[in-house]
Amino acid sequence: MIQAKSEQLFSRAQQSIPGGVNSPVRAFKSVGGTPLFMQRAEGAYMYDADGNRYIDYINSWGPMILGHAYAPVVKAIQDKVADSTSFGAPTELEIEMAELIKSMAPNVDLIRMVNSGTEACMSAIRLARGYTGRNKFIKFEGCYHGHADCFLVKAGSGVATFNIQQVPGVTAGVASDTLTCAYNDLDAVKALVAAHKDEIAAIIIEPVAGNMGCILPEPGFLEGLRTLCDAEGMLLIFDEVMTGFRLAPGGAQQRLHIDADLVTYGKVIGAGMPVGAFGGRKEIMQHIAPLGNVYQAGTLSGNPLAMIAGYTLLKELKEQPGLYAALDEKTAYLRQGLDTVLQQWGQPYVINSLGSMLSIHFSEQPVNDFASAAAANNGRFNKFFHAMLCRGVYLPPSAFETWFISNALSTADLDHTIKAVAESLAEIS
Ligand code: PMP
Repeated sequence: MIQAKSEQLFSRAQQSIPGGVNSPVRAFKSVGGTPLFMQRAEGAYMYDADGNRYIDYINSWGPMILGHAYAPVVKAIQDKVADSTSFGAPTELEIEMAELIKSMAPNVDLIRMVNSGTEACMSAIRLARGYTGRNKFIKFEGCYHGHADCFLVKAGSGVATFNIQQVPGVTAGVASDTLTCAYNDLDAVKALVAAHKDEIAAIIIEPVAGNMGCILPEPGFLEGLRTLCDAEGMLLIFDEVMTGFRLAPGGAQQRLHIDADLVTYGKVIGAGMPVGAFGGRKEIMQHIAPLGNVYQAGTLSGNPLAMIAGYTLLKELKEQPGLYAALDEKTAYLRQGLDTVLQQWGQPYVINSLGSMLSIHFSEQPVNDFASAAAANNGRFNKFFHAMLCRGVYLPPSAFETWFISNALSTADLDHTIKAVAESLAEIS
C-alpha cells in the first residue's frame, strides 16, 4: 500500500504541530509507523491522502454511529451555515436539542451544552463539589475523562498508551484530591470511602469502559456504586461520552438499568462537531450559573452548527426502528467471526464487547480492569494493528482503546475484516 503522501504530510506537520498531530494517540507513536492523513470519509470507509480506502473501526472515536458523512447530517449543516456560524446568544435550536436529549436520556431534567467531553466531565466534577461541599472524588484506573488536570491520574487512553505515570504540569495539590481504584473492585471503593468519610463528592466512571480497550462492569459493580453513593451522600457520575446514545437511546443508564446523578456526553451528540454536555436532576443542576453560583460558561457553547448536526443525528437514532438491534447483530456477527479465526490461530486472546463496542486483548486471563489490560501482550497488538491496516482495516492504534461498530458496515465489510484478521494473525505469529 502506497502511503507516500501521508509520509510527506507527517514530516511537514512535525515542523509546525507538536508531534505532527493535534491529539496524541493519532501519532501512531506506540504502534510505530506513519499516521495516515485522511482526506475524506463516507459511510463505513475513510480515504487517506494517497487515495487508499479503509474500513473504519474508530468512527471519529465514537460519533459516527450511522457512518461518515451521513446525508441528513451533512444537509442539515449546509442548510444552517448561511444563517451565521455563531451568535453568542440563545437560540430555539438549543431548546430543541435539550428537549430531544431529555426525551432519550434517563434522569436528565436540565442539560448544559459545552464544547468537548473534557469540559463536560470537568464541569460535572466542579458541580458535584459545589453541590456536596466536598473536595475529593473517585475515578477508576484506566478510565479517561478528558485532559483536565484532575483526571490525569492513572488515566486510560493516550496516557496509558504512552505509559505516562505522572503528568508534568498537574500539581500534587490537584492530584491529591483524585482518589483511584481498580475498575470492578467494589471492596476497594468501599475501603477508600471509609478512609475518607464525608470528604468524597462523587464517583465518576465510564459505565462501560472504552479507554483501556473495552472493559465491562461485572454484575453488581455499578449497582454497588449506586448503593454506596446513596448511603454516603456522594454523587454517581456516569461518563457517557462513548456510551451515550450508542449502547441504547438512553445510553448505559438505560442499557444497564442504573440511574446516575449526573451524566456527561461528548462527541456523539455533535455528530462529529465539537460538542459535549452534562446534565442531571434539577435539584443538582440548579446550582450551575446563572441559577446558582457554580460557575461554568462557554462562548461557543450551543453553537448552531454543532447543535444542528447533533440534533439531526440524535433524532435519527431515536426514530430509526431496529437500529440498536441492528448494531448488536453486526457486532455479534463480527465477534463470532473473530472468535472462529482466533480459536483456529490457537494463541491466548480475550474479546470483550457490549452493544457496538468491542476489543481484542492478547491475554491469557480475563480482562476486567486496567492491570489485566496492561498485562496482555500489547506488543503483539501493535503488530496486529499494522497487519490489519495493510489489509485496509483501520483499527484504533492502541490496545487501550475500543473499536466502534457503525451501522454503515455491510456484511461484506465484516467478512473482509474477519478474513483480514485471519491473515494478520498468520502474518504476526
Ligand atoms: N470521557 C470519555 C469516556 C472519553 O472517551 C473521552 C474522549 N475519548 C473524553 C471523556 C474526553 O472527550 P474530549 O476528547 O472530547 O475532550
